[in-house]
Amino acid sequence: MIEASAYTILNVDDDEAGRYAKSRILKRAGYNVVESATGAATLKLVLSERPQLVLLDVMLPDMNGLDVCRSIKHDPSTAHIMILQVSATHVSDADRIQGLEGGADGYLTEPMEAEELLATVKALLRLYRREEENRRLLDQLRDADRRKNEFLATLSHELRNPLYPIRAAVEIMRLKDDLDPDVQFSRDVIDQQVSHLARLIDDLLDVARITRDKIELRRGRLRLVDVLNGALASSHTVIEAHDHYPTVALPAESVWIDGDAVRLTQIFVNLLSNAAKYTPKGGNIWLSAYAENDKAIVSVKDDGIGISSDQLPLVFEMFYQADGSLERAQAGLGIGLTLTRRLVELHGGTIEARSEGPGKGSEFLVTLPAFIQRELSQPAEPPGRKREESKANWRILVVDDGLNTREMYSMLLRRQGHEVDTAADGKSGIEKIESFRPDAILLDVGMPGLNGFDTCERIRAQPSGKNVALIAVTGWAQEEVQQRAQAAGFDEVLVKPVGPQEILQSVGSILERKQAQ
Ligand code: ADP
Repeated sequence: MIEASAYTILNVDDDEAGRYAKSRILKRAGYNVVESATGAATLKLVLSERPQLVLLDVMLPDMNGLDVCRSIKHDPSTAHIMILQVSATHVSDADRIQGLEGGADGYLTEPMEAEELLATVKALLRLYRREEENRRLLDQLRDADRRKNEFLATLSHELRNPLYPIRAAVEIMRLKDDLDPDVQFSRDVIDQQVSHLARLIDDLLDVARITRDKIELRRGRLRLVDVLNGALASSHTVIEAHDHYPTVALPAESVWIDGDAVRLTQIFVNLLSNAAKYTPKGGNIWLSAYAENDKAIVSVKDDGIGISSDQLPLVFEMFYQADGSLERAQAGLGIGLTLTRRLVELHGGTIEARSEGPGKGSEFLVTLPAFIQRELSQPAEPPGRKREESKANWRILVVDDGLNTREMYSMLLRRQGHEVDTAADGKSGIEKIESFRPDAILLDVGMPGLNGFDTCERIRAQPSGKNVALIAVTGWAQEEVQQRAQAAGFDEVLVKPVGPQEILQSVGSILERKQAQ
């Protein structure tokens, strides 16, 4: 129980006798009392004396009591002060209501009994204490939340640093082709797990940025189809690890978006990976997009485990996971959809989750502002892209030891009108050159047997390989790799993950360079 002397009450009344009577009652009950006879003096005293309660007469000589009440309640530094309005009997119910709506916390009519005044004051001070406690708890919560966000930011930075040298070590091991099979296997395990860790840490970093509003978009004019193809390429490992083959339906006309290529791709990679993770093997995933007026609508749909109606509104909440058990098969932090929604919103769009319930699949619908180009003339684009569009049928050889990567590149590049052949290692890649006569060869650097550098050197040594565009694809953008690639005869080095558009732009500019020579 808090003593009455801990409270200060500001008693406002221009009538001296009335003011005196009320002050006396309050002082006798142990309260500190400060007095005021005008509106202007009241507003000053509220700031200097910081009372917990103002006993406010409605009729003041200089100001209307209702206006004094509004001023106190509008100022965030005084809004928490309780206001008990007091008026004479002739005041109507309408005035009483007006007073309460103006922000007063209670209302009394004069003349009043001492008990009535004290009981009302006590009740309002109880309310004041409770609100004070709530404010304190809210401050503590905000503080804890801020410290958690700072911790997440520091943690993700600190965790990221040791990953670079591990990655570099794996990449160095990739360059050796005489590794013992057990060591090779161990290297691949480290590689996979480090990539997984890196993705989790990148998400954590993004969460820290989002909570501090530190994500900035690097906007440019992008074709929706390129963004979606890029997302398919980047998520194919997850999709195929779950044995899914997405059905894709993209718009025929050119739908353009003003956005950040990396962040837009991230949105759809998250949604496609979730669809794969939450759909049992053998299920279906659909990616479709269409344009409507000035909007692009993209749907990522699956017939997987679905989401119950009570969980549907929660899936975009930070750290939310429908199945929070530690044993759950799907690794994740429960932040993918939070990030996704924020990134969609930063692009001026909306995202919606739909599901008819558990076992009935889910659909995520993303709507983004877009513009549609139906005529032949395209919006101004960087020269690389124009070149690539003017030549629609290159012959591209993809040499990579990963079956998934070969299939994904074949699918994506063929869909853009190019002829594609593949080889699983350097030796069979070289053999295919004579029969396939490629314009460009995409060579994975870290292949077992003949690695990408050696393969490139041998191709360049052949007459048929002199003019072909040779592109190295590597997971590590070190200066050393760049130098070795140049020495081996590569025209360009692309760093994974590489989307089809990046490949085509690079092929276009290499071939143009070669023609000009
Ligand atoms: P994470 O996948 O890391 O748990 P997300 O933020 O991406 O985190 O997703 C939050 C939760 O939403 C998931 O844990 C899952 O319960 C649910 N969810 C997301 N996508 C799907 C989907 N396609 N089908 C069913 N549930 C989903």
